[in-house]
Amino acid sequence: MSYEISQFGKHLGSGSGIGELMEDLGLAMAGSGESLKMLGGGQPARIPEINEVWRKCLDELLESEGGMDRALTSYDPPKGNPRFICALVTLFRETFGWEIGAENIAITPSGQTAFFYLFNLLAGRMEDGSQRKILLPLVPEYIGYANQGVDGNVFRAVPPVIEKTGPHEFKYRVDFEHLEITPEIAAICASRPTNPTGNVLTDDEIFHLSALAKSHNIPLILDNAYGAPFPGIIFTDAKPFWEPHVILTYSLSKIGLPGTRTGIVIGPPEIIRSLESLSAIIGLSNPSTGQQILLPLVESGELLRLSREVVMPFYQEKRNLALHAAFDAFGDDFEWFIHRSEGAIFLWLWFPNLAITTKELYQRLKQRGVLVIPGEYFFFGLDGPHWPHRDQCIRVSYAMDEPVVRDGLRIIAEEVRLAQK
Ligand code: PLP
Repeated sequence: MSYEISQFGKHLGSGSGIGELMEDLGLAMAGSGESLKMLGGGQPARIPEINEVWRKCLDELLESEGGMDRALTSYDPPKGNPRFICALVTLFRETFGWEIGAENIAITPSGQTAFFYLFNLLAGRMEDGSQRKILLPLVPEYIGYANQGVDGNVFRAVPPVIEKTGPHEFKYRVDFEHLEITPEIAAICASRPTNPTGNVLTDDEIFHLSALAKSHNIPLILDNAYGAPFPGIIFTDAKPFWEPHVILTYSLSKIGLPGTRTGIVIGPPEIIRSLESLSAIIGLSNPSTGQQILLPLVESGELLRLSREVVMPFYQEKRNLALHAAFDAFGDDFEWFIHRSEGAIFLWLWFPNLAITTKELYQRLKQRGVLVIPGEYFFFGLDGPHWPHRDQCIRVSYAMDEPVVRDGLRIIAEEVRLAQK
C-alpha cells in the first residue's frame, strides 16, 4: 500500500544524502570485524573519568529523596526543569557576566532539535508568501543543519577565504566582502568550533557578524555543541560571546551524555517563548534525565572544572597524536593540507590534486576498512558555479583510540597518493 505524502513528508520523511551515508556507515560497522577503523562518526569519546562522574551522579540521584521521580517518572514544564534553568542562569551570569534571566533559557530535546525549531521559526515561507533564509557566513558547516527546513532548502552560504597558514596547514576566514545581508536573510548561523573543520571563528569575526546581525535587526545564532564553557573542546583563547540579539545553543552530548538528548538555548525572551510552545506542541516536555544528572554539577560549578581539566585536555592530547600521525603518514610527496585544528573532535583534510571525488575516495577507503565522511556533504546552501574545493576534502574523527586513528590515516594517505592527478 502506498500513501500520498505531504510536502513536509517529502522534505523530511523521504531520507537524505547524509541519512543514506549514515546507514552505509552503520552497515559497514555491523558487517565488519574489529579491524574496521571508524573515523566517520560524530560519536564523542568515552572518557573513563567522566563516565565515573555520571555513575556517581546517577547513584546520588536515585538515592536522594524524590530523585527517581525527578529523573524518570514526571513531566517537566515544556521550557525545561525550573531548577536546572535557574542553575544555568547563575552559571552564565557568574562566569561571563551576561545579563540573562530564566526568560532567556529554554531546554530542547537535543541540540539537533533546537536547530530544527530555530531554523523553522525564523526561516522558510513567511505569512506574506516571501521565503526567508538562514545565512551561513562560512561553509563547510555542520551537515546536521542541511535538511532541516520544512520548506526545503532554507540556507544561503558564502564560501570562505582560504588562508594558507603553514606548509600543510590552512584556515577558513569569513569573506566579509561577499557577505551580503539581503532582505530575505532571517538570521546568521555558525557553529563555533565548527563541525567539520575544527575552525573557531575569531573574536573579531564574531564581533563583526554580531554587528552585522544587529544592524539588520536579525539574530546571530552560535552553535556551541563543542564550545565554551562546556564541553569546552576548544584549543584557542576565543571568548564566549552573547548579546541580547544573539542565540546560543549548547548540548550535553559532547561532554559525554549524548544518550540523554538534551539541548540548551540562550536567547531573546520572545524566541524562548516560541521554543517553549514548540516543545509543548511537539513533545509536551523534554527528556529530564540529563538535566537531573547535570544539575549538581552546574550548581557547584564542577561542570566547568571537568570541561577545563578533563574533557579539553583529553581531546587536545588526541588531537596532537592525530596531527603527528597525519604528518608521519602524508609525507611531502603530494599536496595536502589540514585545517588549523582549533577545537571539536575532527581533522579536516584537503587534497587539492585529488583526481576523484571524495565520495569515490570514501568507497575506496571503505573497501580498505576505513570509514570517513566525504567533504562534499558539508558544502550546502551554495549558489553559483561549482567550487572544486568541495570535492577535495574529507572529515576524519580523532575521538577513537590512537592506533585506530594512526592506522586509518596511513591508509588514507596510501589511497590519496594513488588518486593524485
Ligand atoms: N551542532 C553541532 C555542530 C554538532 O556537531 C552536533 C552533533 O554532532 C549538534 C549540533 C547536535 O548535537 P545533539 O543533537 O547531540 O545535542
